[in-house]
Amino acid sequence: MPHNIFFAAAFAHRHNSDDTWDSICPKCFYTIATEATEEGLLTHERRHDCAALMKSRMRLGIHERICGGERSVESA
Ligand SMILES: [Zn+2]
Repeated sequence: MPHNIFFAAAFAHRHNSDDTWDSICPKCFYTIATEATEEGLLTHERRHDCAALMKSRMRLGIHERICGGERSVESA
């Protein structure tokens, strides 16, 4: 599917000093995966869903920590 090819190509790849690769989503700026090979990132990129990730992050209280809001239950 052309949509998947475009979507996968839109992710930024960062080569780390320990020779692993990170994939960063250009929409939510989240590092969605770290893999030993750049090719290994593709599976994560195909599955990535910004909306679903945001929901789970909000549920965990991460959004509040990042945005400087009320303290979450985790930071007691
Ligand atoms: Zn995203």
